Amino acid sequence: MTPENALPTTRPMPGALAAVEADIVRACQQARRDRTSVTLIAVSKTFDAETVTRTIVAGQRVFGENRVQEAKAKWPGLMSAYPDLELHLIGPLQSNKAKEAVALFDAIHSVDRPSICEALSREIRSQKKRPELFVQLNTGEEPQKAGVAPLEADAFIASCREKYGLEISGLMCIPPVDDAPAPHFALTAKIAARNGLKNLSMGMSADFATAIQFGATHIRVGSAIFGHR
Ligand SMILES: *Cc1c(COP(=O)(O)O)cnc(C)c1O
Repeated sequence: MTPENALPTTRPMPGALAAVEADIVRACQQARRDRTSVTLIAVSKTFDAETVTRTIVAGQRVFGENRVQEAKAKWPGLMSAYPDLELHLIGPLQSNKAKEAVALFDAIHSVDRPSICEALSREIRSQKKRPELFVQLNTGEEPQKAGVAPLEADAFIASCREKYGLEISGLMCIPPVDDAPAPHFALTAKIAARNGLKNLSMGMSADFATAIQFGATHIRVGSAIFGHR
């Protein structure tokens, strides 16, 4: 079964995707922002190609996965059926997966340490591909969480640029689950602004409207579109 033939193209747009779209439009209006300034990344981790195909048929083109292995199994087939798809890696990256990540993804949201910078720099040069790169911040300074501490962010961004020759497109954050997200979004926006970065990957199913208010350019929405994992 090819993804193209998986479902008739007349299938109606899944209601959940339409509801998320309506919420994005409303949040943009409230923030006096243009809808086109916000990219919806549909986070499809754990959902199979057939489920993903339903949202592609409904018009969604940008997707996020958090594991390289899972994405490798799911996406090449979908991408050959729908060449205009865009795939973002939103989860942690190991340097030994950098080669596969650069080959498969259009954007990587989890740049957070020198070993990753080095591996990405090497792969970008040898594969002549230029995935969009986001530095991940650990705004809550949670020990178990990936990301650069806010106080180290300026120096890390500078080293990405100067030492590794990486072009950084923006910042990404995942606020602590028990915190109000707004201060984390505000801090991420502030660090981006002072480093001349225009893109902000922030906001998930529960808080993307708030993230849009604080300037998110990329929202990563999973369960609100695909249901609970
Ligand atoms: C799973 C995931 C999301 C989506 O989370 P939902 O709450 O399901 O919208 C966003 N960002 C990252 C990094 C994730 O791993």
